[in-house]
Amino acid sequence: MNTLNVLDNAIERQVAQAEAYNLPDARGHFGPYGGSFVSETLTHALDELKEAYARYNQDPEFLAEFRDDLTHFVGRPSPVYHAKRWSEKMGGAQIYFKREDLNHTGAHKINNVIGQALLAKRMGKPRVIAETGAGQHGVATATICARFGLECVVYMGSEDIKRQAQNVYRMKLLGATVVPVESGSKTLKDALNEAMRDWVTNIENTFYIIGTVAGPHPYPMMVRDFQSVIGEECLQQMPVMTGRQPDYVVACVGGGSNAMGIFYPYIDYPDVQLIGVEAAGEGMNSGKHSASLQLGTPGVLHGNRTYLLQDDNGQIAETHSVSAGLDYPGVGPEHAWLKDIGRAQYVGVTDDEALQAFHDCCLIEGIIPALESAHALAYAAKLAATLPKDKIILANLSGRGDKDMHTVAERMGMNFYCRESCAVGAAAVAAAAGATQVVTLHK
Ligand SMILES: *Cc1c(COP(=O)(O)O)cnc(C)c1O
Repeated sequence: MNTLNVLDNAIERQVAQAEAYNLPDARGHFGPYGGSFVSETLTHALDELKEAYARYNQDPEFLAEFRDDLTHFVGRPSPVYHAKRWSEKMGGAQIYFKREDLNHTGAHKINNVIGQALLAKRMGKPRVIAETGAGQHGVATATICARFGLECVVYMGSEDIKRQAQNVYRMKLLGATVVPVESGSKTLKDALNEAMRDWVTNIENTFYIIGTVAGPHPYPMMVRDFQSVIGEECLQQMPVMTGRQPDYVVACVGGGSNAMGIFYPYIDYPDVQLIGVEAAGEGMNSGKHSASLQLGTPGVLHGNRTYLLQDDNGQIAETHSVSAGLDYPGVGPEHAWLKDIGRAQYVGVTDDEALQAFHDCCLIEGIIPALESAHALAYAAKLAATLPKDKIILANLSGRGDKDMHTVAERMGMNFYCRESCAVGAAAVAAAAGATQVVTLHK
C-alpha cells in the first residue's frame, strides 16, 4: 500500500499525480478504508445495488433524467459568487462562494437524494427509507419521494424530534412517515441502526437512501458521484469568472458529502489545495468536538472502516458541534484516504469562530449561511487574511441558515444581533426568534 505522508513539496506531489486517482477499488476500498462490513442479509441487497448503479451510471437515459431534475427541480447550476466586501475586509485573497444554499430545499443534500431516488425507481422499489439527525436529509428525501410518488419512511431519534420540530412538520407536509427511535441516546446513530433493521426486513420492496459519503460500499462512491456535480460546475464556472481554477477549495466536513462533491473533480488538479473543515466545537482539547479525521483513530462504524472518535475499547465517543450536520463521530472513508496520502488537509473551526463567520456573512455579504457552511467560511476568511490579493479561495456554501435561527439566538446567550440602523424593528424579530435581548453591532 502506497501511503504517502503529507505532500508538502512539489516532487512528492508529482508522484501522487502520476498515479491517476481511480478509487474505490471493486470492493469499495480507499486504501485501507471503506469496504463493506455488514450482515449476510444486507450483502445481497448491496450486491443488487452495486449492479444497478454500475449499469445506470453508464445509462444515457438515467443520466439525462438526473440532469433534468437537477436543472428544473433543484435549479442548477448554482452560481459561484465573489464575496467582494468580505475579501476586502480580510485584506488578502479573493473569496468565492459556491452557492449550494440556493438549491431547492436549501442545501446540497438534494443532489444525492435525486440520484438515489431515481435508482430506487429503476430497481422497482416503491418504498424508500432514510435516517435523519437534524432533519435536513429527511426533508430532502421526503421532498423527492413526493416528487416521484414513492412511499417514504424516515427514522429519527426521539431527542432529535423534540429539537427539530419544524423539520418533522416539513417531512409530514411532504407526505413522509416519521418514526421516532427510542433506543440508545435517541439520536442519529440510533436512527441509523433502526433504518438498517428496517432494510434487512423489507429488502424486497425497499431502497435505503443514505445522506452522506459513509455507509457500506457502494454508498460512499455513489453519493460522491451524485454530489460531484458541485465541483464539475465549479470547474466550468471559475475560469469564466476569474480566468483560472482556484488556489484553494474549502468545505465543511460532517460525513463529508458536500466536501467530496466539490473536491472530487479537483483531485486531478495538483495545484488546487483541498481543505476540509471539521467542527472543533468547544476546542480541540475540550473533548467536545466532532473532529474525527484530526483526533480520531481507524475503526469500523456503520458498515465501513474509517477514522472514528472512540475510546480505547472502541466505544464511540460523544461528539459535539453547534451545527447538527457536523455532529457525527465518523467521516466518509474517502476523506480518511485523502488525508493519509496528503491530497487533502483537514483543519478545525470552533463553535465560536463559526458563529462569528455566520454573523459576518449576514452583515457583510447579505447571505445567511447554514452553521455547517459557516465553518468553511470561517476558515476561508482566516486563510484569506494570510494570502496575497491575487490568490483565490473557493468555499462551498453548502446550505442556507434559515433552519438555524433558533440555535443561533439561543447560542448567542439569547441575544439577537443586528446593525445599528435596524435596532428599532429588531425587538419583535428577536422575540419571534426566541431571543431575550437585542445587541446592536456598530460596523
Ligand atoms: C448535512 C449538512 C452538512 C454536513 O454533511 P456533509 O455530508 O458533510 O456534507 C453540511 N452542510 C449542510 C448545509 C448540511 O445540511
